[in-house]
Amino acid sequence: FYQLLANPVKVTGKTYGAVIMVWDITEKNAAEQMRREFSANVSHELKTPLMSISGYAELIENGMVQPADIPEFASRIHQEANRLTALVQDIIQLSKLEEGTSQMQEEVVDLYELAEDIGATLHHAAKKKDITMKIEGATQEITGVRQILYEMLYNLMDNGIKYNVEHGILWVRMWKTTDKIYWQVEDTGIGIAKEEQERVYERFYRVDKSHSRQTGGTGLGLSIVKHGAALHHAQIRTESQPGQGTKITIGFPLDPI
Ligand code: ADP
Repeated sequence: FYQLLANPVKVTGKTYGAVIMVWDITEKNAAEQMRREFSANVSHELKTPLMSISGYAELIENGMVQPADIPEFASRIHQEANRLTALVQDIIQLSKLEEGTSQMQEEVVDLYELAEDIGATLHHAAKKKDITMKIEGATQEITGVRQILYEMLYNLMDNGIKYNVEHGILWVRMWKTTDKIYWQVEDTGIGIAKEEQERVYERFYRVDKSHSRQTGGTGLGLSIVKHGAALHHAQIRTESQPGQGTKITIGFPLDPI
């Protein structure tokens, strides 16, 4: 997209020529459109669980639910409220990331320790599906924003459980080369088709909407990974085949920010 501005050059009433200015506004338009789409998506995504919550509550209020079914309805309300909480947290996280690093504290972070912490937090979810978590490697320190690095790895490991098969395996590996530190999360799950591998990093993009909803996903996890990687000047590589599992590798420069 181009914006064109033409100004005649006049001196004492006589036109000598014209100044033509051309701006490339492709990026500006794309950014504006993304913002508009994001707001529309946010309101849609927030409304869905809110409408379920008020719908279920109304049914109970009007005596339309058998007493025996009330625990089931309460549990659905609880689930939808949790979804809403996760959504709001992810939206706040994404907007913080977009603001940049100004208010974000950099520190030395041990990626291995982070993986162990997250592994402990996700232990219960993994156990439910009988997934074996294998954290391989040792202390790897980089300078970065701890909270963002935590969110990134949390989302990757959480996906590695959510989209894994029962009795599957989730590997988290980290290693160092002369100029980079690598993080890798691999699962034995459902995989992502080639044509979806870029799109899954878009906000609210899900391969299978109903499955993702069931698993409690917000559709924002991988966008947080993408933004967080960009903030640390890291590169992401996605390798996956449907039915064969997914491997996501992030390469951080040794001095990332
Ligand atoms: P969600 O909250 O839905 O998990 P994400 O942004 O984390 O959102 O992921 C976007 C979509 O990418 C998911 O809905 C899922 O379809 C797909 N996806 C992400 N990680 C994996 C994975 N490890 N294996 C298979 N599919 C995945």
